[in-house]
Amino acid sequence: MFDLAKKKAFVCDLDGTLFMGAKPIASAVKFVIDGTVSGRFRFFYLTNNTSKCPEEYMAKIAGADIPVTPEQILTPLITLEAYIREKGYKSVYLLASAKVKAHMSERLADAGVSFEYDPERNELIALTYDKELTYAKLADATALWNMRNTPPSPMCPVRTANGTPVDFVATHPDNCCPSERGPIPDVGGMLKFLEATNSMRPSHVFGKPSPTLLAPVLARFAPEEIAVVGDRLYTDKAIADNAGVDFVCVLSGETTRDDLARYKGTPPAIVVDTFDKVDR
Ligand SMILES: [Mg+2]
Repeated sequence: MFDLAKKKAFVCDLDGTLFMGAKPIASAVKFVIDGTVSGRFRFFYLTNNTSKCPEEYMAKIAGADIPVTPEQILTPLITLEAYIREKGYKSVYLLASAKVKAHMSERLADAGVSFEYDPERNELIALTYDKELTYAKLADATALWNMRNTPPSPMCPVRTANGTPVDFVATHPDNCCPSERGPIPDVGGMLKFLEATNSMRPSHVFGKPSPTLLAPVLARFAPEEIAVVGDRLYTDKAIADNAGVDFVCVLSGETTRDDLARYKGTPPAIVVDTFDKVDR
């Protein structure tokens, strides 16, 4: 049973939960502002959307009059940065918008990481929600994989001198991004495009439902004090389940009551039309 009195921290999804595209969901946003200003709850903002930099999310949240600080923003770009550092990669073919590429270059400047396409040097292909994705980028990514990760064959006569297989990761698994015009392609769709071309598959997919992103919240609050709030069962509910915290399902985005009726897993702790309805 969902007990609001026990909750101290809400990890909020953005698209479909607090915003619909660029537009704030007014009642949900008011609940967050009131809870922040009164100090009743601590809010974190979890997004799988790597088409934007964390600073852009801060601006989006602040633009809805919600007081926010950088440590409240949780995005898979943080996990990607940690992964590159942990592996010691110096040459990454990053499929990302120019802004996100500049952000990652700046974040990893101290580690001397290059993010350009370089078939001889690239150690990693990293796919983000690249809204500037082009056929040339997709062709380069698949060609890199063909030349480095498949056995020599008449189908791929060109080989690189560097015979080491290239690693491949994606920032998140979402198939589509909700918009006022309905679902539009996201990383999941791009992964299917690549897989259909030459069977290339990522070694890791960060973001929801991987609970790694909740580490900063779990370090400060007990699991029973935390709830994840979101509109998607396969990402938002999954990260809550994987982290062992309650899930508040909002019907302001992707999931419908019909979806919930068909859902085979454990039900959400609570289902509400919009986030503010948890306080009733
Ligand atoms: Mg959402």
